[in-house]
Amino acid sequence: MKIDGGCHCGYITYVAEIDPGKVGICHCRDCQTLSGTAFRTNVPAPREAFSLRTGEPKIYVKTAESGAKRAQSFCPECGTPIYSAAVSEPQTFNIRVGTVRQRAELRPKTQGWCRSALDWVTDLDSVTQFDKQRAS
Ligand SMILES: [Zn+2]
Ligand SMILES: [Zn+2]
Repeated sequence: MKIDGGCHCGYITYVAEIDPGKVGICHCRDCQTLSGTAFRTNVPAPREAFSLRTGEPKIYVKTAESGAKRAQSFCPECGTPIYSAAVSEPQTFNIRVGTVRQRAELRPKTQGWCRSALDWVTDLDSVTQFDKQRAS
């Protein structure tokens, strides 16, 4: 499936071709912190199927507990996370689904690192819902 997307301010845009069957959620602590929220949703694109159209992302190299290093790319202007990839010669770009224009069509198939998932995320139906801005 062909997709396109970009950051919130519009500086970074990209196009890619992905397999919608590979959309996944990550509940690891690094993804919670780096996304600024409860979990992250990703879809991988092979190197040859991903291309930046505009902008130059800033890279933050994250070192995992295991010692593994991972390049976290984000917009230097607005801070939107765009993808993660290997630090050198990446073969895959793990695109952040919230930046994909077609994201409503990308339903996750799997969830990883559930042992660190926040306990309420599996029970969102129990959280009071509003169509727009919630009442405070
Ligand atoms: Zn931006
Ligand atoms: Zn993660």
